[in-house]
Amino acid sequence: MSYTEIPTRAPAAGSADDTIQPFEVSALDLRGRVVRLGPAIDDILARHDDPLPVAKLLGEATVLTALLGSALKFTGKFILQTQTDGPVHMLVVDFTTPGRLRACARYDRARVDAAIAAGADSPGALMGKGHLAMTIDQGPDTSRYQGLVAVEGGGLEDAAHEYFRRSEQIPTRVRLAVAEEFHMGGDGMRHRWRAGGILAQFLPKSPERMRQPDLDPGDAPEGTAPHVVPEDDAWVEGRSLISTVEDIELIDPALSSEQLLYRLFHERGVRVFRSAAVRAQCSCSREGVASMLRSFSRDDRDHMVENGVISVTCEFCSAHYVFAPDEVED
Ligand SMILES: [Zn+2]
Repeated sequence: MSYTEIPTRAPAAGSADDTIQPFEVSALDLRGRVVRLGPAIDDILARHDDPLPVAKLLGEATVLTALLGSALKFTGKFILQTQTDGPVHMLVVDFTTPGRLRACARYDRARVDAAIAAGADSPGALMGKGHLAMTIDQGPDTSRYQGLVAVEGGGLEDAAHEYFRRSEQIPTRVRLAVAEEFHMGGDGMRHRWRAGGILAQFLPKSPERMRQPDLDPGDAPEGTAPHVVPEDDAWVEGRSLISTVEDIELIDPALSSEQLLYRLFHERGVRVFRSAAVRAQCSCSREGVASMLRSFSRDDRDHMVENGVISVTCEFCSAHYVFAPDEVED
């Protein structure tokens, strides 16, 4: 029998900031990605003046978007958007290939302050109930694909698990973490945001091994016993290992993605693929905003004039654009 030996080496200790690291654990039929965000997430969150728990929630949404969007195999955009009834009623994050991220949150400041005062400011509580939409956009002449999942008061990890279980039927586990890092500078204490996440999916060659415990029996007659199907041992082991990942392991700048993967899977053997870079970059431009304004009716534009100018602030990056009314006449 001939075989090709896969060379092994020590996991790289180098910083993993702003990278996405794909991996595979063949022995467990597990594939996934680790994302680590340093300057990129600090840039995104520092552009907004959001209250801390809102910034943390938006950071989690950004990590989830990076994990999901980096699976795109073509040029395009992945958009994650929540619409919920909690104090934070909307989150929008996009990932544009090959690695551009931007994010914004819409929320009711008074309700957010009340939630913070009441200690009810977990990501799930801030979102409340509604739905999470994931859209893939490959350009103007293609159809958009949209997946939807209910948000039921849990956080984004729960919503992602539910999406993959119901819509894709792929056993999936996701962990997301966001934290502030404090350090002393010449001008006192400063803080930076850091974030990270891991996604793992069970993708065996034979699909019958992907069985998962049945969904709620729905409209089956009352008293019907749920059909209990044992989960595959490899997936039980894989998802148990993912659930041991601590927040600190996902954000620690001294622990590389490779070291984290080795720590988790060294007994089974883990392979890593070429990592990809991500960065914070908005797609807005002065010309883009001008053409949007030109598409409005004259009456609408007239209503936007204040002190003789029309000013527009980008919700994603807070860039400020100012126009004289005659610059944007159609
Ligand atoms: Zn912008």
